[in-house]
Amino acid sequence: MGRGTASPNSWALGDGQQVPWEYAPAPESREIVQLKSRYGLFIGGKEVAPRSGQWFTDVDPATEEQLAEIARATVEDVDQAVGVARRAFKRDWSTLPGSERAKYLFRIARILQERSREFAVLESLDGGKPIKESRDVDVPLAAAHFWYYAGWADKLEYAFPNRDPQPLGVAAQVIPWNFPLLMLAWKIAPALAAGNTVVLKPASATPLSALFFADVCRQADLPAGVVNIITGPGEIGQALVSHPDVDKVAFTGSTAVGKEIGRAVAGTDKALTLELGGKAANIIFDDAPIDQAIEGVVNGIYFNQGEVCCAGSRLFVQESIAAPFIERLKDRLSTLRVGDPLDKNTDVGAINNAAQLAKIEELVEAGVAEGADIYQPACELPARGWFFRPTLFTNVAQSSRIAQEEIFGPVLSVLTFRTPAEAIEKANNTMYGLSAGVWTEKGSRILDMVSKLRAGVVWANTFNRFDPTSPFGGYKESGYGREGGMHGLLAYLDLGGGH
Ligand code: NDP
Repeated sequence: MGRGTASPNSWALGDGQQVPWEYAPAPESREIVQLKSRYGLFIGGKEVAPRSGQWFTDVDPATEEQLAEIARATVEDVDQAVGVARRAFKRDWSTLPGSERAKYLFRIARILQERSREFAVLESLDGGKPIKESRDVDVPLAAAHFWYYAGWADKLEYAFPNRDPQPLGVAAQVIPWNFPLLMLAWKIAPALAAGNTVVLKPASATPLSALFFADVCRQADLPAGVVNIITGPGEIGQALVSHPDVDKVAFTGSTAVGKEIGRAVAGTDKALTLELGGKAANIIFDDAPIDQAIEGVVNGIYFNQGEVCCAGSRLFVQESIAAPFIERLKDRLSTLRVGDPLDKNTDVGAINNAAQLAKIEELVEAGVAEGADIYQPACELPARGWFFRPTLFTNVAQSSRIAQEEIFGPVLSVLTFRTPAEAIEKANNTMYGLSAGVWTEKGSRILDMVSKLRAGVVWANTFNRFDPTSPFGGYKESGYGREGGMHGLLAYLDLGGGH
């Protein structure tokens, strides 16, 4: 299976000898995060115990050790949170001038930046993601969303001229475990900027950053009830999105649950945005800048252990360069460092939860059984925790499960093509349509491909780039509606004459 060595780094001596070397451990201290043993619900600006009297355990995926106990909300707790959000909407938030709402959002952005190290360590502890990613991507981008939407709060009538933009009311927001703080920011920042109040349910595997965010709201003196956080299993999410006094539902997660939510909301006048799964094509033409493309492919699929809805999980390489490209990709894979998420040198951290690891293992076994060739570098995995080697499949059939299903793990399926038309046809041969990548030096080819790829976001000569000013969302079973940019604001507004 493996081709690489445990120590892929070496100094070359003049006489042809190689002296291997290892990275010394460089762990970020976890002291900055002060965890309580238990976290209640955040309703009406206060931490409250769940009516169920029940708590569930939140664990560190890298060690499988308990981090804290988390409140299991009941349907009555959901009802209370929605009621509190409704009152805060009527009494406080919708009556404030936009410039006042903006002040709170700016304050939240600043506090997130001030507490960025704490949030980065927390995200890595709770989610298993490498600290360099939570430090350099998740937390700064989350703050950037609050900065960006703070800027819009007092300019809604300029954003939508000759319309009468009004908030929708109470937003029910359900988020996944792959980018807990960032997804919270994607949801809460535009909702609040537009004048709505919020009840948010984080994923049960990663509730901590939302509960720490509750503290940020208190620190920012946000009026009580404008943001409420409830924790509990999927059925609590279901109760939240089905609540009759909710005006807007925003969900990010699996396509299966997205469909259930679509059914729960159908026939009501609730506004809905769904951001679901993906199976993105990353397309490499023979004139692509190869060094950058290799890095882009690696970032596209191994960033956040591949637990990314827009991950570049299907690689299409033009046939004329396929063999050398794949060789170089394998060499690059053998240098990826898998291990402790809190180590600053780690490239690939822990898989978020045991169920997800089991799903990845099952699909990888299916890939092998279907006849694809597997490559995994011979890196050592930690003895405890949920880890999976970066994996690459070649000789993959279009119909194979690993080419069709969202794996949501560090697993890349490599396919080839000869002509641009063939690349388009193969890339679009999926039930998803969230994102895609094109690598070529020809601008005209980029424009042509972009117009034909059925994907909400298409990156050219880069991948997995996010910016609060840019809309993000999918076609087909990847969902509908857009988050980010002015489009993201629109999803939380009634412009008059229907939305
Ligand atoms: P889910 O879609 O089940 O979870 C996402 C969120 O929805 C969580 O907060 C979850 O709560 C909640 N939820 C679960 N069931 C319901 C329901 N019936 N009504 C309302 N809310 C609900 O994702 P999973 O964690 O189960 O992951 C399964 C697969 O989904 C992954 O393997 C991956 O393929 C895909 N996925 C896609 C994501 C994306 O960004 N597009 C993100 C995460 C997963 P709880 O955590 O308590 O179950």
